[in-house]
Amino acid sequence: MTNSVRNVVIVGGGTAGWLTAGYLAKLLAADRPGGAAITLVESSDIGILGVGEGTFPTIRKTLARIGVREADLVRRCGASFKQGASFINWRRAPGTPGRDDFLHAFQEADRDGPELLPYWLLGVAGDRPWDAASTPQRRAADACRAPKLPGHPDYVGPLNYAFHFDAGAFAELLREQGIANGVTHLVDTVDAVQLGEDGGIAGLSLRAHGQLTADLYIDCSGFRAELIGKALGQPWKSCRDTLFCDSAVALQLPDQAPDEPIASSTLATGQTSGWIWDIGLAARRGIGHVYSSAHCDADAAERALRAYVGQAGARLETRSFRFDAGYREISWYKNCVAVGLSGCFFEPLEATGIVFSEVAAALIANLFPWAGDFETAARQFNANMRRRYARTLDFLKLHYCLSERRDSDFWNDNVDPRSVPDSLHELLDRWRHRPPNELDIDTNVDIFPEASWQYVLYGMGWKTDLSAKAGVYRFADEARAAFAEVRRHGEFAVQQLPSNRALIRFAQGAA
Ligand code: FAD
Repeated sequence: MTNSVRNVVIVGGGTAGWLTAGYLAKLLAADRPGGAAITLVESSDIGILGVGEGTFPTIRKTLARIGVREADLVRRCGASFKQGASFINWRRAPGTPGRDDFLHAFQEADRDGPELLPYWLLGVAGDRPWDAASTPQRRAADACRAPKLPGHPDYVGPLNYAFHFDAGAFAELLREQGIANGVTHLVDTVDAVQLGEDGGIAGLSLRAHGQLTADLYIDCSGFRAELIGKALGQPWKSCRDTLFCDSAVALQLPDQAPDEPIASSTLATGQTSGWIWDIGLAARRGIGHVYSSAHCDADAAERALRAYVGQAGARLETRSFRFDAGYREISWYKNCVAVGLSGCFFEPLEATGIVFSEVAAALIANLFPWAGDFETAARQFNANMRRRYARTLDFLKLHYCLSERRDSDFWNDNVDPRSVPDSLHELLDRWRHRPPNELDIDTNVDIFPEASWQYVLYGMGWKTDLSAKAGVYRFADEARAAFAEVRRHGEFAVQQLPSNRALIRFAQGAA
């Protein structure tokens, strides 16, 4: 083996850049002889995006690998514990009679005995919604509980969880850890990119440090996509005909009282032309309105945001964002691979932005072309990521296309079958007569397990008709007992677990 590839340059110091740097430094042994050398260049003139406050449970393993302690994350990044995403007013317009909210819980059913979903579909749990019937996490999240006790080790708890955190502080924490892991840090701006005869990248011109070369270049320059887009011309595939949201307006609302409860889930509230995220951190909430500019202008979007926030936020400044939901079909080309916003971004729904950076970093570590075989690594990387993007697109669209809301063109257009990918039509066809199960999931590419699909599908009121085979479900009594146990576990969790705020205070003190 020639071991010819050792030098990696990462351009960009946002969440994607530092997460990839810290992770690769550990996995590729940047601090040891024979390991890869990793340099990260970030511009002080071009800021980071600074949003991206919601994460997915995969972040725990990623942070543990990078070497970030949980208490440091909580203390330094104003972090809180997230147990899922709560969807309000997605199914029906506000004012329609009946409750309209469900939790996409992180907790998957984990029990011996009969699979509960068919029994729930057959009415064995009465009129309890699927989330409340199947997981104690619904009750715990409703009561703003933490997912674990103060004494539990880092990143371990009885209830599955992720974090909400301040994105700017998170990048700083990752920077510190990345440097400790052996990453060389350059504060400079890439002014030009030179291409080699083979069409790959031959070098970078830095404003202050001059020429910089590497064997592998990782583009974490955000939406600017300096390497993969501008220099190498790899096209962006827009998915806007499926996911209409392309804009956001956001603000940060300081806590109004020191003991205000902190929500244990991201609150996602449906609006006339989009939805509002509401993320509770240790000392403030991050709140933003994601909307479709084809259905709503910026002034109306800001008015909706301010109406949601109320008087407490009347004088707060807002920040606006534009994006084009989509991805690069080729995000690894020759000796350059895109991670983060330069490679993919759909929209803030279900917090898939940071997950894709986690996945990409792990794939790069796994496929790292030590012996110079870039083509093979690129083929595998691109095939895997494309499949992930397609599956995630289906999952996100699922939230919109089942809505019964008919109060605006936004929702009407979202249920137009032409806006639904064929692959999602196919899944929905399957689920008319059986619920989602492991047959529908490919663990090599799926970020969301079948439980996620189930929470959203049945939260949005989908009907799976099992009547033709109802006779095969012979364990209704056992299922009834299991549903009762979930209910008991929920009450137990509320009694035993501290509040989200209490666990945060404990972690702050323990740091
Ligand atoms: P950026 O943060 O933009 O960083 C780019 C870096 O590249 C900067 O350091 C910049 O200095 C550097 N750079 C650029 N050009 C040059 C150059 N020429 N020379 C040197 N350096 C350069 N994701 C989630 O997981 N959860 C969420 O809740 C979520 N919410 C979001 C809400 C909105 C409105 C948006 C738009 C995105 C959201 N995301 C979310 C996505 C998330 O913000 C990103 O995945 C994450 O911030 C990573 O961004 P990044 O590092 O790719 O880019």
